[in-house]
Amino acid sequence: MRPINHIVIHCTATRADWRSGSKTSAKVSEIRRWHKDRGWSDIGYHFVIDRDGTVAKGRPLDRIGAHVKGHNTGSIGISLMGGHGSSENDAFDDNFTLAQDRALRGLLDKLQGQFPAINRITGHNNFSAKACPGFNVSRWLKGKSPARESVMQSTTTQASIAQIGASVGGGATAIAALDGTAQLVAVGVVGVIALLAIYIMRERIKKWARGIK
Ligand SMILES: [Zn+2]
Repeated sequence: MRPINHIVIHCTATRADWRSGSKTSAKVSEIRRWHKDRGWSDIGYHFVIDRDGTVAKGRPLDRIGAHVKGHNTGSIGISLMGGHGSSENDAFDDNFTLAQDRALRGLLDKLQGQFPAINRITGHNNFSAKACPGFNVSRWLKGKSPARESVMQSTTTQASIAQIGASVGGGATAIAALDGTAQLVAVGVVGVIALLAIYIMRERIKKWARGIK
């Protein structure tokens, strides 16, 4: 597998009702035909997400796509069906469906799990003066999705935080009983322990931050 560290989101710029009633595979075949007509070896995107949230595979992941000039190496291209007449600052749901929102977030999660080196999720409009995908990807990523459960709500995270809170609290009581220099030293020790705890929690915090981004 080629090294992958970036995901770029696109839209097909088709109308919302384009070929409605036909199967996703038939729509993907048509997009593949358009791209081959441009002289490309295959469809340019690695995934296409239909209006109903169906995720279809395009070009195999181990092959470099053709979707964003200058950034195809190391990236995966995902295209949402729709977006005709959209502008770069539209809201996601001005042009796309809730099913597509959920499907895209799910696919991003899955791909980030599969390729831990992924450190950027962008839109085509981050790299050229285009509307594509018809919304601001970083703003959309920061928005909350009803389909996601925050890691902060998970019981294991809550338990870890309670544990840290308890040890810091216990330390504070003990420090109050000391005097002068001993107190200063003890405060320093507690600080180091707290930093250590945050360091240990880092991965979980990062995961949580990704979730709300
Ligand atoms: Zn695009």
